[in-house]
Amino acid sequence: MAKKKHRDTIAVRTQLEKTQFNEHSVPLYLTSSFVYDDAESMRAMFADEIPGNIYSRFSNPNATELSDKIAQLEEAEAGFSFASGMAAVFTTFTALLKSGDHILCCNSVFGSTHTVLEKQLSKFGISHTYVDIHKTNEWGKEVKPNTKIIFVETPSNPAIDIIDLDWLGKFSKKHKTILIVDNCFATPMLQQPILFGADLVIHSATKYLDGQGRVLGGVVAGKKNLIDEIRTFARSSGPAISPFNAWILSKSIETLSVRMDRHSSNALKIAQYLEKHADVESVKYPFLKSHPQYKIAKKQMSQGGGMIAFLIKGGLKRGRKFLDALELASMTANLGDTRTIVSHPASTTHFKLTEQQRIETGVLPNLIRISAGLEHADDIIADIDQAFKKSK
Ligand SMILES: *Cc1c(COP(=O)(O)O)cnc(C)c1O
Repeated sequence: MAKKKHRDTIAVRTQLEKTQFNEHSVPLYLTSSFVYDDAESMRAMFADEIPGNIYSRFSNPNATELSDKIAQLEEAEAGFSFASGMAAVFTTFTALLKSGDHILCCNSVFGSTHTVLEKQLSKFGISHTYVDIHKTNEWGKEVKPNTKIIFVETPSNPAIDIIDLDWLGKFSKKHKTILIVDNCFATPMLQQPILFGADLVIHSATKYLDGQGRVLGGVVAGKKNLIDEIRTFARSSGPAISPFNAWILSKSIETLSVRMDRHSSNALKIAQYLEKHADVESVKYPFLKSHPQYKIAKKQMSQGGGMIAFLIKGGLKRGRKFLDALELASMTANLGDTRTIVSHPASTTHFKLTEQQRIETGVLPNLIRISAGLEHADDIIADIDQAFKKSK
């Protein structure tokens, strides 16, 4: 058997094996349904006796290519793609849980994931308990007999906290729960949670996987029996990714490895610059020695990624002035783009959290989040530097 390929190669070379005209670049299959050869194959395909595409809500060649690529990169048995990252999160919860079940969720997760737990799943009798990312020694007593899922993000959005995946994999196994890791910030190029015992990995493909701020998408990859349940649920409930978005995303992933290299090296330079700046209270970046979980980050990530969080001196007012003074960096509700993005989580993505939740998860009023882009690092730093001066 051929030697196992490197992730860079998998990202470039995983594509549909056979296309009609042997296109080198896989074409876009923009169709809602597929034609059967005869009545018998139609019956057999509906009965799942033979493989094939029926209808693009169930499957589509472009979506399958994207799912397979992420599954291979994550070293997962199978994968399934969705219209957005939140469609992936919501469908995974609803497919695997029933009324009376409980989720143990790290308190430091994406804003809309909080909303799904608090406002949506609660309506159907699915409860949750938040656990503190900094107090993993207390998680054990929060596991209940009906706890089915443990859900975490690492690095977390927006505070860039790190959870020890090795510890977590063992913890989940001991409690017989399904461990789900939102791997959006690291991408499979920098971190593979499944190798540490995660059962499922979730991605907002909208972020680094696209990497150019164009389309929405989501992917779940992991154990085949779980993916099969999720696929069956999605087939009828309808959160399918559009063929066009899947096609874009599969092509984007061909450059993921080189992009993550540059995102990471730029972010490290920016973080080092911020660490020395007199107007900065503190900086969090996984590969800065000053990060509280630096050693764990080094153990489970191959690079630090593109996301940085820092506290600006002078509080919320200074923070707003700083954002307004930026000339190159964009102020927008996305991340993982070629263009550097600077945001203020407390008033945007995490404004729905209570004051107490924000304090506990480090979403302080003077927290600024940077998604380091692919511009030259010196130009990004020069922009940040002039914004510090102008916002004094
Ligand atoms: C953006 C994001 C999501 C949601 O993804 P969408 O594609 O916007 O639906 C989930 N988790 C994390 C960590 C994110 O950054």
